[in-house]
Amino acid sequence: MGARLKPCPFCGGEARLVVKKGRNAIHSYWYREKVICKRKSCSASGRTEKRPGIAVAKWNKRPEEDRLSEVLRLVDEQCLVNAEDELGGLQS
Ligand SMILES: [Zn+2]
Repeated sequence: MGARLKPCPFCGGEARLVVKKGRNAIHSYWYREKVICKRKSCSASGRTEKRPGIAVAKWNKRPEEDRLSEVLRLVDEQCLVNAEDELGGLQS
């Protein structure tokens, strides 16, 4: 159901989306969701959001990881270029 949740950034444990919704006395609907870590010893949790999809998007947002992935991608790319240069040097 829905988007996949990344593991807890604190303990690496599995996360879970908790959704609560209902209708109040004046018949307007309300909605609340938040992502929590399943491990009781950790109890990390995201903020409660009032619109679907926001809590998951925020939970999955990992700027540090994204930066690291980008750096690793560039390193890989550079290693490949260097290897090709060395091979080229051997061939000529
Ligand atoms: Zn956790």
